[in-house]
Amino acid sequence: MSRHAITGATLFDGTTAPPLPGHTVVWEGDRITWVGPDGGADTAGAETVAAGGASLLPGLIDAHVHLCFDATIEGIDGVADEPMEEVRERSAVNAARLLAAGITTARDQGSRDGVAVEIAAAQARGDLVGARIIAAGRGITPTGGHGWMIGVEADGPDAVRAAVAGEVARGAAVIKLFPTGGVLGTGSHGYDVVMSADELAAATDEAHRLGVLVAAHVHGPVGIEMSLDAGIDTIEHATGITAEQARRAAGQGVALVPTLTGIDVMIEQTGALPADLRSRAEEVAAAAAAGIRIAIAEGARVLAGTDSGTPFNPPGLLAREMRLLAGLGMGNAGAIAAATSLVADTLRVPGRGVIREGSFADLLLVDGDPLTDLAALERPRMVVQDGVVR
Ligand SMILES: [Zn+2]
Repeated sequence: MSRHAITGATLFDGTTAPPLPGHTVVWEGDRITWVGPDGGADTAGAETVAAGGASLLPGLIDAHVHLCFDATIEGIDGVADEPMEEVRERSAVNAARLLAAGITTARDQGSRDGVAVEIAAAQARGDLVGARIIAAGRGITPTGGHGWMIGVEADGPDAVRAAVAGEVARGAAVIKLFPTGGVLGTGSHGYDVVMSADELAAATDEAHRLGVLVAAHVHGPVGIEMSLDAGIDTIEHATGITAEQARRAAGQGVALVPTLTGIDVMIEQTGALPADLRSRAEEVAAAAAAGIRIAIAEGARVLAGTDSGTPFNPPGLLAREMRLLAGLGMGNAGAIAAATSLVADTLRVPGRGVIREGSFADLLLVDGDPLTDLAALERPRMVVQDGVVR
């Protein structure tokens, strides 16, 4: 079995614990076998990299991506008309781009025809290199609802329950619902709630019965309240969450994935954005920031996800999301946990998102100190996935 070591690293273990300078990590095959101060491990015979004080973190985890989109405005609806071969090809390329950016795992939150499930399967066979994908398959949305181009349309609790079972049977590792409208693309808009309490309850019950978690795309307090009532596991976007709802989310163990990057990259576009989309985006950005600041203060679990694939939001902007979350009160150490250990724990991927003996060797080596500047994460020096140097 191949044996590797990184010595002289400043170790960030994926929790909010202070980094440890002068540390060595040894791994054999895909598992970390030793973590400790330099000189404490026998690295003879190991392929060794001297980090020279660089920062070593767990490979990052993006909690919300869309592999199938091309990061353009037209691409959102346009993906519905593309040949599947092109969609598949782009999805594979996007998974590779995520990995190159130090993102060793990503949760896809809805793809045309569930193509992300095929990507995950190809990776599991060893046929494709890229960020390890946890795929939602097709999102479940009412007829004409937001996300229809990456969804399966279902109306009524029975149809929604059947759609959940169908996606799991097709290989979905998580279920995605679209209970409210969106700010992008066609279909239902904004805070409009388009799924009933009965539909949400049926979806959650069926998914949990089948052993998978449920994520819901939700803008606005009404949709958030319904999602909390239904026992949704992760609330995506969570725009306009109230303090009381944040406390409830914290108490129920519901995680929030704000995806602030998706809006942030849009409002910095001047000219490229149609006026109506721009004003909607600005409105959502303000409401999202205010709500997430409250949620962080109230102790809700907030995870880093980019919504990559949406307009002007190519794969790999996770450090940007981390900066945005840090600025809303999480701090840099909190943001690192929000992109590593907390995501792995929430998504139930044991042995990922942490650096400790026995965990998987998913590692990211960067120059600079992410505790003082998260932009350091945008300059990966070395990416290791399942023990393999990529
Ligand atoms: Zn999304």
